[in-house]
Amino acid sequence: MMQIDIMTLFPDVVGDMLCESILGRAQERGYIRVDCHQIRDYTTNKQNQVDDYPYGGGHGAVMQADPLYRCWAHIMEGCSEEERVRTIYMSPCGKTFCQADAIRLRDDYDRLILVCGHYEGIDQRFIDECVDEEISIGDFVLTGGEIPAMAVADAVCRLVPGVLSSPECYENESHWDGLLEFPQYSRPEVWHDRAVPSILLSGHHANVEKWRRKQSIIRTRDRRPDMYAKLDLSSKADKKLMKEIAAEEAAAMDENPEQN
Ligand code: SAM
Repeated sequence: MMQIDIMTLFPDVVGDMLCESILGRAQERGYIRVDCHQIRDYTTNKQNQVDDYPYGGGHGAVMQADPLYRCWAHIMEGCSEEERVRTIYMSPCGKTFCQADAIRLRDDYDRLILVCGHYEGIDQRFIDECVDEEISIGDFVLTGGEIPAMAVADAVCRLVPGVLSSPECYENESHWDGLLEFPQYSRPEVWHDRAVPSILLSGHHANVEKWRRKQSIIRTRDRRPDMYAKLDLSSKADKKLMKEIAAEEAAAMDENPEQN
């Protein structure tokens, strides 16, 4: 069971989103649990104010350390000694999240506390005292940490055993083994004059697998040269596939030279 605690100013939005569909069913079945905590409930002033001006001047407001700390301490009080707990601040200054991080967080921890900032961010002293790592979801800035927290929670929770029907559901997907996924098709066989590749209708499992791996390799090469450069294609089977790809592409070029 994976427990996710999300510290946020918008618990309803985050909670509603993570209670839908696959993750909602996983919560009902007890594979995961998501609790959202309203940081404002941990203020000690009448206005329930959670932010103040930044020391040193500048635009906007900064979330104060104390309400964050009190909320975090409340969650920590509920953790058992055996639980492996990790506190993560969602931050554009953090390390960029990837599939390997989702696997690491699933394997190494039982409970993740995800801290969502807002405004200009949060007081550094809370980060220094309570945060174990900072995670960014990309090189851009959002208004709050709620969408990043939902993205990380979703990516981790779908890898928890029992959440999806079998490990194959995520092991064959993009970014699992350094490849992007092959194109997917569903019914009907022809849509807007576009036919499903005939190999997928052949019922020949080995040929379908071979076609899918080829498509994955071509996609990764064309769309993500950074990932392609790290691929190990030295097996006998992959070397054969690469030869076939080269021959097929040369034949396509001969047939339709303008396209290249
Ligand atoms: N002033 C901060 C900076 O320049 O790094 C940005 C603050 S941002 C407007 C408000 C909050 O949104 C942050 O505290 C963080 O929790 C969240 N956030 C924004 N972009 C993010 C990203 N790319 N990844 C993770 N969290 C992000």
